[in-house]
Amino acid sequence: MIDRPGWKERQAILEIHVRGKKLAPDVDFAALAKGTPGMTGADLENLTNEAALVALRKSKEMIDMHDFLEAEDNILMGAVKELTISALEKRITAYHEAGHTLTAWELPGADPIYKVSIIPRGMALGVTQLLPGEDRHYYPRTYLMNRLSINLGGRVAEKIVFNDISSGAENDLKDATKLAEKMVAQWGMSDKIGPVNLGRGEEHPFLGRELSLPKRYSEEMAWLMDQEIQKIVIEAEARAAGILSEKRDTLDALAEALMKEETLERADVEQIIQGSADKSMAQ
Ligand code: ZN
Repeated sequence: MIDRPGWKERQAILEIHVRGKKLAPDVDFAALAKGTPGMTGADLENLTNEAALVALRKSKEMIDMHDFLEAEDNILMGAVKELTISALEKRITAYHEAGHTLTAWELPGADPIYKVSIIPRGMALGVTQLLPGEDRHYYPRTYLMNRLSINLGGRVAEKIVFNDISSGAENDLKDATKLAEKMVAQWGMSDKIGPVNLGRGEEHPFLGRELSLPKRYSEEMAWLMDQEIQKIVIEAEARAAGILSEKRDTLDALAEALMKEETLERADVEQIIQGSADKSMAQ
């Protein structure tokens, strides 16, 4: 794996790629660099080009900070899509994203919320964007279990509120299952399988596609791994369900705010969760 640049390097990279472009005085490269952890040099070049396009589309003379932030959203969350959504679909999406958001908020050590939106982008009807920590090289089991719960939190919220589940969580399930498979078969995080790496679920580092390697484990082991993967995912789901049922009022408040505002920044989320907690204290 290539080392990804830290924020100071990212700032320097951004400054190189804007050479020759007309910039408004409000552009703050330090702030942009701090808001883009995990981005590579190529991602940052893409960001400056996208910002220029955003400015061009609005016939602006200069690229301003707003254009950069819009470009960042386009890259991180996909371009906004014009889509007709029914009131019910909007409500389901709002609760789904509120479920991810509240689970992430309540779990200690989870990545902080950056933004949550129910504006359709790319393939998704909504997005909950977390800001991963700057220098994370290891993933402790507790952190990964949190990630699984956050991943499943959207679907869990749908289950609690509508007493039904939708096909909209397909990617969440795919991601969760893939992660649980790695935990069990590659990172030795299941007691029953033990500290062995059986190569199952390994991906090509650049293509992101699964490798078709000869199996290094028996059918019995494969069966046991299936059991353990399922157990981990169900445990993570139960944790999300516990949080969201207990904080149902907050879940409602977040979903209502999303239906009204469509996008919430971290500060908005904090205010809603705090407000909801104060209310329940007063009761
Ligand atoms: Zn989701």
